[in-house]
Parts: sequence; C-alpha cells; structure tokens
Amino acid sequence: MFNDHVSSKRRKNNRDLFIYIKSIFFSGLAIGIVVFVQLGLVLKTFELHYLIVPVILALVLGFLFGHVAVLRRHLLLKNDLFRAVADFAQEFTYFRRLDGSYEYVSPSCVDITGYSTDEFYNHPNLMDQLIHSADKERWLSHIDDINYEGKAESLDLRLVTKEGNTIWFNHICGPVFNDAGERIGVRSTNVNISERKLIEQRIQHMAYYDPLTDLPNRRSLSKYIDELTQASDPNSEKFAILFLDLDRFKNINDSFHHEFGDHLLVELAKRLQQCCRDRGFVTRFGGDEFVVVVPNLGDPTTAIDYAQEMIDLIEQPFIINEKELYISGGVGIALYPYDGLDATTLIRNADAAMYQAKKESHTCISLSSKELIDDATTFITTENRIRQGLVNEEFISYFQPKVNIANGEIVGAEALARWSSEDRGIVQPDEFIYIAEETGLIISLGSHILEIVCAQINHWSEQGITLSVAVNISSKQFAHPQFIETVSAVINKYGIQARLLEFEITEQVFLNDINSAIDTLWKLKDLGISIAVDDFGTGYSSLNYIKRLPIDTLKIDKTFAKDILNDTRDVAILKAILSLCEDLKLKTVVEGVETQEQAKLLSQLGCTTAQGFLYYKAMPAEKLTSIIRKK
Ligand code: C2E
Ligand code: CA
Ligand code: CA
Repeated sequence: MFNDHVSSKRRKNNRDLFIYIKSIFFSGLAIGIVVFVQLGLVLKTFELHYLIVPVILALVLGFLFGHVAVLRRHLLLKNDLFRAVADFAQEFTYFRRLDGSYEYVSPSCVDITGYSTDEFYNHPNLMDQLIHSADKERWLSHIDDINYEGKAESLDLRLVTKEGNTIWFNHICGPVFNDAGERIGVRSTNVNISERKLIEQRIQHMAYYDPLTDLPNRRSLSKYIDELTQASDPNSEKFAILFLDLDRFKNINDSFHHEFGDHLLVELAKRLQQCCRDRGFVTRFGGDEFVVVVPNLGDPTTAIDYAQEMIDLIEQPFIINEKELYISGGVGIALYPYDGLDATTLIRNADAAMYQAKKESHTCISLSSKELIDDATTFITTENRIRQGLVNEEFISYFQPKVNIANGEIVGAEALARWSSEDRGIVQPDEFIYIAEETGLIISLGSHILEIVCAQINHWSEQGITLSVAVNISSKQFAHPQFIETVSAVINKYGIQARLLEFEITEQVFLNDINSAIDTLWKLKDLGISIAVDDFGTGYSSLNYIKRLPIDTLKIDKTFAKDILNDTRDVAILKAILSLCEDLKLKTVVEGVETQEQAKLLSQLGCTTAQGFLYYKAMPAEKLTSIIRKK
C-alpha cells in the first residue's frame, strides 16, 4: 500500500518533469527560430555570445509555461478525482453557489428524492420545495443560519419524493470558503435515514405503549401526568385520575384460558378508548387495571359522572369467542391538586381510592379525599332528588309572620320554602337552596313557590284575610328573560291583588347588570309588586345605590339583631341605616329578633317591624290562618 503510494507519487513527479522539459524545449525552439531568422537572415552575422539572452529567455518562458501546464493538470486531476468519488458515493451530495444555483449535484440525488441531477440543475429551488410541510419552518431557519451566520448544521428532516413518499433524511450542510476567506457557497450531504427512524419509532412505541391493547402504558401515564402538573396552576386548574380495576379477572383467566382473557382486555380497551378518548387520556396501567386522566376538569363532581360511565361501560355484556360474558369493576378517583401534586402520589391515591371503593362495595367509586366525594355525591343525589321532588310537588311553603314591634300585631308574612320529603320529613332550605341555585333548578323551584304563595293569598282573601306575603327571589330567577311574564301570568291565574305581593331580592341581583336589574324592578313596580332588599348590611351594601333603586323596604340582616346588645359599632351602623331609610321613606324590617332585650333596643332605635323566633317561627299556612283568626 505504502509502496503503491510512493510509486504513484514518483510517476506523478516524472510526468511533471516531462512537462517542464517539453515546455522549455518548445520555448527554446521558438526563440531559436526567431533568433535564427533575425541574426542569420536579416543581419547576416553571428557570434556565439548572441545566444546568451535567447537561451535565458527560453529557459524562463519555458519554465513559466511548464508551471502553468503542471498546475492546470493538477487541478483537472483533482476535479476528476472529486467527481469520481462524489459520483460514486451513496449520499446525495451537492455544492450550491451563493446565488442558489448548483455547481455540482451527485447522481444519487435520484435515489433519495426521485429527481434527476438535471432537474436539480434546472430548478435551483427544488430542494426547498421537497421539504415536508411539518419541517418547513426548521428548514427555513436552518437556511438562514447557513446564509447569515455561516453555521454548519446537521438535521433530521422529512422530504416528499417525486413518487409522493415521505422519507426521513439526515442533512449535513456547511459553508464553503475560498482561499481569501470569502464564502462562495454551501456543500451538503444527505442520507436516507427512514429505516433508522422507523426502528427508533418502534422502540419508542414499545417503551410507551402496551403491546396487547396498544394503549399508552404506565410509563406514558406518568409522563402525561407530569406534563399536566407542570402546566397546571393548582389554584385554578383541576384534573382527575380515574383508576379502574376489574373484579375477579383472575377467575376469568383461570376458568377459560389466557388468550380469552387477553381478548377481553383488548375489547375493554376499545370500549374505554371510544368512550373516553375525547375527554381524556386512556392508558393500560397493567394487568386488568386501566387509568383514564381527565384534564381541564371544571367541576370536580363531573369526575364521578365519568367514573360512573366507565362502570356502566364495563357492565355491558362482552361477546368473546361467541360466549357472552359479564364483568364488573371498581373505579377510584384522585383529583389534582387535592389528592396530590405529582404523578406518583396521584396514581397511588387513585389506586387506594379504588381499593376503598371495592371494600365498601355499595359504591364502586371513591375519592381519597373523602369529604369531597361525600359533598359531591350528596350534591348529585340531591340535585336528582330536587328534580324528582319538583315533579312530585314535594316543595311547599311555610310562612313566618312579620310583626309590629310596638303591639305584636301581624303585619305580613314571609314565604319560606320547605321540602316535604317522604323519607326525611320537612327539609330546611339550607340543604337544597344552594344546590338548586347552582344547578339552575331554582328557576322552576322559585316559580313553584310563587304559585303556592299566590294560591294562598287568594285562599286567604276568600276567607276574608288580607295579608301581604314576601317571596324570596333568587338572582338567577330575577335575571331570567321570562321572569316578568311568569310573574304576571301567576298573578292573573289566581286573580290576586299584586299589592299583596312583595319580592325579597338580595344585592346579588345588581352585581351583573345593574341597568337591566333596575329595568326589571320598574316592571315589577308597574305590576304593583313591592320590593324589599334582603339581608341588608351583609353583602356589598352601598347606601348610595339604594337611593337610585325603586325599592320599598330594607330587611336588616339578622346579624345586627344578634350583635346590637354587645357591639356598639353595630348600633352605630344600624342608626345610620335607619336614618337613611327615614330620609328615603323606606320601610325597615329587622330579621332574627330572638329576645325581648333585642326588641326593646330596636324599638328605641326607631324600628317598627320585626321578624324572628321571639314572635313566630316559620309555619304551615293552616297554622298561620288559625293564629290570625284567633287574633
Ligand atoms: P332569608 O330570606 O334570610 O330567610 C330568613 C331565614 O331566617 C329563615 O330561614 C328563617 O327561618 C330564619 N329566621 C327567622 N327568624 C329567625 C330568628 O329569630 N333566628 C334565627 N336564627 N333565624 C331566624 P330558612 O327558612 O331556613 O331560610 C333560609 C334561607 O333560604 C332564606 O333566608 C332564603 O335565603 C332561602 N330561601 C328560603 N325559601 C326560599 C325561596 O322560596 N326562594 C329562595 N330563592 N330562597 C329561599
Ligand atoms: Ca328573605
Ligand atoms: Ca334575610
């Protein structure tokens, strides 16, 4: 090898020497002829020293011409060698000038792109057009790096071949400089790496997917939850981990055979995927355990609906190898951020909740944060029962009289909703009003109570009793577009005098759109209904806006009655409210009066009307009727 190299070098040197000699010889010959013609034919005289200058000239010129010829020979040789190597290489190589045109494109371009060298030479932008749209952005920024910063780079990119196939290729590219250090273009080699990518993707898939069901596996699950926890703000964003475990799966495997069990798991995976794909990330945790992660969970209680859906889904019969099979399972729920802030804790808690669910067997679902599940379950069952209760007309109204403090005379009553439930007896509003509010059921419930009240007013009128009744109106009910129509329809239906109706609203109604609230108030006033602001002094109580509103009464919240005997500040506030009401010609009612001392002080401060256990508790209409009759 070394000898070959030495002998080829020697051959090359001999060839160069031969070129020099040849060049000197021909230069000498040319100059010799000129000298001969000049001296011999023109001057007809000759001396030997006349040859010194021509000989030197011949040597110099001959050497110069020879050197140029040798250099040119070397250059051609190099170029041919480069082409011979590049043409032969499997990589698609090119050299592009600064203007974008190609100086050289290796023939293997056709193997990678499907396009010939001529197509590249004729369409200098071809390479840019071939890049896959998904990689275009990276490609353009890479071109910028090369053009503006002269940075060499290696990238894995996709291109679309002439046949329309997408292939992966490795693109190595760097700037080319001349001897003066100026950039004259870029050179690049491109290698088809599709096969390598395919293997990489397969390995990646194997690492993150379960081979039996093709669902993401436990590792994907942790990765997904970690990403979610990093992206979620624990103060505002919630997500749920639903952990499903089948009952007696081991028995199925033992009684039939493992292939049968596998088949069942595949079918189950398909069902879960179909049901939960749109709302969450479905994974096989291992064995007969599946985990679904539900991101962007607004209301935590929806997690329970989803878990219930999973249970319903697995309880549908499976047909495996023409056999009908029924299975069951338990789902445990863990909620971010309540049950953990990282994947490990959340999965562990969901798993623990699932065990708990199975142990308690009466329910398949449990949360590790017990209170939450309890609240959530109560909420859902109550919501469903309120719906049913409305259909069954289980909601009734009690009436609590308002009295004249001075003489104890009944001057009106407040209608207070009660739920007459078959299994629980009379249920107080604090157990159902907030749920009705939150679910919007308050609109139906409110209309129902209004109807009861109007019927009662009518009934009392028929018995010669004229009593004005206050009805609590929720802000949702108040803002409902059909509110005014519903109210006037009910008044007409029972033919009552609207002046006997009072609506108690809270400051909540002014929070959304005060102008539309004022508009509704005027419409109610036009119907003849009076308006009271309830729980005054607790909320946003601005005495200023009270002046602007068409209201008749302020109901002073029960906390004042409770505190006036101990807190002088409350007395001062109460005095201010009462004097404002006097100026504005507003009536006042003090709620929650429980003792004679409170009543006495309130009377001294100038209150005339009160409501409270000192006088009467809320009671059924019949009881109130008999009290009024006796009086
Ligand atoms: P509210 O409108 O402030 O009603 C007064 C509440 O205070 C009633 O409770 C009443 O029983 C209670 N109360 C009366 N006197 C005294 C007293 O001397 N001491 C104490 N500690 N409490 C007294 P209730 O009936 O449990 O109603 C609770 C709340 O439920 C009501 O508060 C009202 O906000 C809501 N509510 C009741 N019925 C309806 C309804 O038909 N519609 C709407 N939207 N809300 C209703
Ligand atoms: Ca009230
Ligand atoms: Ca109140």
